[in-house]
Amino acid sequence: MSLSVRSKPYIIPEYSLTGDLLAYLTCGLQYRYQNKGTLPPSMPIQLWFGDFIHGVMEEAYLRWRERDWKDFPWDWETQIRQIELEIDKRMRSRGLQPPANIFCPFHGPSEEQGLCPDTNHPHKLVASVRAEEAINTWGPHLFPLIDDAEVKLKGIRDMPGYKKGVSRSNYYGVTGIIDVLSSVKLEEASSKNLILKYLHQDPMFREKIDALDYPEYEIIVDYKGMKRPPVNSPSWQHHNWQVLTYAWLRSMQPESRPVLTGILFYLNELSLFKEDLKELKREVEERSTDIMPSENDLMKILQWNMRSNPPLISQLFKNERSIRIIQVENSSVNNSLNEFDQVVAEIENSVICEVNGKGIKSSWNPNPDKRTCDACDFKTFCNKSETASKFPTVP
Ligand code: SF4
Ligand SMILES: [Zn+2]
Repeated sequence: MSLSVRSKPYIIPEYSLTGDLLAYLTCGLQYRYQNKGTLPPSMPIQLWFGDFIHGVMEEAYLRWRERDWKDFPWDWETQIRQIELEIDKRMRSRGLQPPANIFCPFHGPSEEQGLCPDTNHPHKLVASVRAEEAINTWGPHLFPLIDDAEVKLKGIRDMPGYKKGVSRSNYYGVTGIIDVLSSVKLEEASSKNLILKYLHQDPMFREKIDALDYPEYEIIVDYKGMKRPPVNSPSWQHHNWQVLTYAWLRSMQPESRPVLTGILFYLNELSLFKEDLKELKREVEERSTDIMPSENDLMKILQWNMRSNPPLISQLFKNERSIRIIQVENSSVNNSLNEFDQVVAEIENSVICEVNGKGIKSSWNPNPDKRTCDACDFKTFCNKSETASKFPTVP
């Protein structure tokens, strides 16, 4: 009797847009060490903070909706801290430990000090300062507009450059998570709503509403735990692709309405630390950012140097820099899908190279900027990062 050989399992590789594709574009080698290694769980500070702030905003929305927490600003010690600890607990259960220099992990006074200034916990370290600013700035305007939170998106695409017997699969999956705002909630919103104001300032948005056959539409939202990138940077372009790809994924869900626009919130803009200001100052000098300061803000930013404390910047300027509105057009959606196909092709090639015995460093492409290396957990053994400083940095 001959035994049949069990065929290879059919696996469709699945890529999260932010966790895989954007992470790969930040540095391919870091992505490999992070995701596909047998190293102990560890996470670059940027990725930890991105996950953390996303979780904090979602949990804050749920508490706004389900409890009687409608008045802002929320108090950090009695309200926001609970949310932070809940998100930290969930992240730890996925093996993601908080970087001790940016988040106080203690529930109250303790004998241990960790990297906190003293044992009198909890401390409002960088991650907490940012969480508080994010909730109290955007919560009052954003939460009333959300129709559906944490909507899971998933789609299937042809594997780019598929080769039978070489490629892992003839398809790949792409996933993401968004919040959805609806036209109904936008119509109900107060005229003082800041998001509504920024949307209507864009003439393209008004044109699109006028051109609609059916009055209902949607806006998709995502949060970024980083500062606004300059317009000539790869990240600026990548975030554009991300939103447009999300719009495509959302449009395939049967309950969706036409997706007119995407909004990204760059939450670090609300609390700029020295490294952020240094970058902002350079961008202002080079005029490489789309939201330029005026008058007082301009003077303060240009006169500031690393030896002094960050200046007080106007709330209006911070708000404008932290919101980015991306119009959804069919042609640009197709372009974004093609771009991400290319990224998947590169990752798949790297996987195949490594499986075929080429070393990790020869198979995966490092392509980072200096700040990515500075904040990278793998810099001690990655010889691609000669310029990285030895000190921990904030996200
Ligand atoms: S140290 Fe720099 S080059 Fe090396 S893996 Fe990290 S980000 Fe990439
Ligand atoms: Zn502490």
